[in-house]
Amino acid sequence: MNQKNITFNTPHLTGKEVHYIYDAVFNKQLSGNGKYTKLCHKFFQDRYGFKKVLLTSSCTDALEMCALLINTQPGDEVIMPSYTFVSTANAFVLRGAKIIFADSYNHHPNMDADKIESLITSKTKAIVVMHYAGVANDMKKIKDLVQRYNLYLIEDAAQCIDSYYIDEINKKIPLGSIGHLAAFSFHETKNVICGEGGMLVVNDERFEKRAEIIWEKGTNRSAFFRGEVNKYGWVDVGSSFLPSELNAAFLYAQLEHLEQIQQKRLFIWNYYYEHLKELEEKGFIRLPYIPPYATNNAHMFYILCRSLEERAKLIEYLKTQGIQAVFHYLSLHKSEFYKDKHDGRELPNSDMFSDNLVRLPFYFDLTNEDLGYIVDTIKIFFHAK
Ligand SMILES: *Cc1c(COP(=O)(O)O)cnc(C)c1O
Repeated sequence: MNQKNITFNTPHLTGKEVHYIYDAVFNKQLSGNGKYTKLCHKFFQDRYGFKKVLLTSSCTDALEMCALLINTQPGDEVIMPSYTFVSTANAFVLRGAKIIFADSYNHHPNMDADKIESLITSKTKAIVVMHYAGVANDMKKIKDLVQRYNLYLIEDAAQCIDSYYIDEINKKIPLGSIGHLAAFSFHETKNVICGEGGMLVVNDERFEKRAEIIWEKGTNRSAFFRGEVNKYGWVDVGSSFLPSELNAAFLYAQLEHLEQIQQKRLFIWNYYYEHLKELEEKGFIRLPYIPPYATNNAHMFYILCRSLEERAKLIEYLKTQGIQAVFHYLSLHKSEFYKDKHDGRELPNSDMFSDNLVRLPFYFDLTNEDLGYIVDTIKIFFHAK
């Protein structure tokens, strides 16, 4: 009888989470934008040079803020990958936009930057880039398009903490600092977590004031507390996008350990890569590709099977051996909700990743023994065939 039970994800605790939450509770600072929110903001501004950041209750919320900030209107078109999470699209659909889905590269789930220009029309308002697995897309090409056609660029940087785009002069530019706006996630499945949480990054100062207002339910409350206005009231649309201090306190404990978290995750990523190379060389699987213009933040480790059937068999086999491996997105252009609204173009690479990609267990507390067992089990599956 097999005793192993390796989950796909287990949240990692750094040790001080409860301590900081206790501190927030003890000091009776429970609602948003208090001490821990400000500590988190400062962390991101100092470490990545982000000019303006606002913690949100999720990345989904931060994306909805992006859609509001660029004044998305019914009839606007927004270009994004089909191989992404529903929130990337929902945020703009909620404002009445039509989503124009782009295909992925063959070598990476990111949307193919060379296939975007033909999708731009007079109605195009924005391009939303989602850097899959924290691996940068070709931002020079995409920025050129954005400038040439006068569009907004938004980064769904949900998976991108501590990852960079490497530009032509070899400079490392933090993901999330390239678009006019960007959205990060601290959901339990990401590298750094607080249960449910996210962050909006405002890189274009034209959006700074309004972002704060939308964040605070459409009021100028933040400006009031800074003494910039002498009363506060309803000045714009908005919602309750800011998280409670309890979430911010948890997040801050994680951020203090970002280096250790990243080191361990990179170790796990490299272990998988080195030990599964043999299967790639034999043509059984494909391993993740990191383009020369991207860094690896070890957000996830996936392998590509040769077919949907083979992937299903692999996932099933791993399950019988006590290992939980999971597939990922289903092409949004084929989703029940959007398939009739999609313009009918085939997006074969997106479908290929929908069918063939499988994510392996990935979290801080995986042991070397776990890792050895996982790669051995995968090897047994392919060699036994
Ligand atoms: C996780 C994720 C989201 C959603 O993040 P939440 O914080 O759960 O709202 C959005 N987009 C992508 C690409 C993600 O990976």
